[in-house]
Amino acid sequence: MRIDLHTHSRASDGTQTPADLMTAAARAGLDVVALTDHDTAEGWTEAATAARGLGITLVPGMEISTEYEGRAVHLLAYLPDPGYPPLVEALTRVLAARNARVPAIVERLVAHGVEITVEDVIAGAGDAAAVGRPHVADAMVAKGIVEHRDQAFAQWLSPGRPGHVMRYSADLREMIGLVEAAGGVSVLAHVWGRHLPATLDVPVIAELADLGLGGLEVDHQDHDADARARLREVAVDLDLVITGSSDHHGLGKTDHDLGCNLTDPHQYDRLLDRAAAAAARSGRTTPAVENA
Ligand code: AMP
Ligand code: ZN
Ligand code: FE
Ligand code: FE
Repeated sequence: MRIDLHTHSRASDGTQTPADLMTAAARAGLDVVALTDHDTAEGWTEAATAARGLGITLVPGMEISTEYEGRAVHLLAYLPDPGYPPLVEALTRVLAARNARVPAIVERLVAHGVEITVEDVIAGAGDAAAVGRPHVADAMVAKGIVEHRDQAFAQWLSPGRPGHVMRYSADLREMIGLVEAAGGVSVLAHVWGRHLPATLDVPVIAELADLGLGGLEVDHQDHDADARARLREVAVDLDLVITGSSDHHGLGKTDHDLGCNLTDPHQYDRLLDRAAAAAARSGRTTPAVENA
């Protein structure tokens, strides 16, 4: 069983439609794939229809933008009820902040002599529910200002660069509770990746586990062998589910091919068990795993 639990489509900042992503997942030999767009469930229906036709299993999920003590933390949420009102409200706030940030970024870039417009960004983003820096980067590539997304981030969009603008994110502790109340299970994405130097140390992870955190994404391209080994121990000690995933973004991120990291089938079963338990406790109508 080949299981990849973290991918992005054009509903956020991937470059493939949800249907094309499912086709690519089947072609990559995956049996189970989770669609985890940033802050939205928008791609779920299209992906589920495609997965049904292809005979692969789709786990509906999302990667929620949160913050812990001023640092950005990505929280994967699997199988929450996307209509749970407090979750809808929280995601609406995050998406509104995403939309509001685009003109602010463009304004800064223009002030530094970069000739792009909000319309350029929106045109490239298509009908993405979650617009972000990768779409600004794509607009800069289309205009020949940079060669690829990485260069746009390195020169313009990362913290400390001229086009960087902060945005509102949900509170991590609150979001862990909301995901659970929505009948889903939460997993910290790329826990010790390059974006999070030392924010989430072991005592903090233990505190989050007490709040209902379900798992840790251990096998991810942002983690070296040492980080993976240490995180695996932390997960075992705290009885957290261990996941592995590609964080595929189509052509938007190199070295993140579908299936480049995988989740152990036993850990996948534990994840589904935790989601089922949360759903039973909450009484929410949670989405089906397609082709389970
Ligand atoms: P935003 O959601 O607008 O804050 O943008 C952050 C997203 O941009 C991350 O979730 C990644 O998917 C993507 N990203 C971050 N750094 C890079 C990079 N160097 N190259 C390409 N994509 C990146
Ligand atoms: Zn992304
Ligand atoms: Fe992420
Ligand atoms: Fe991601």
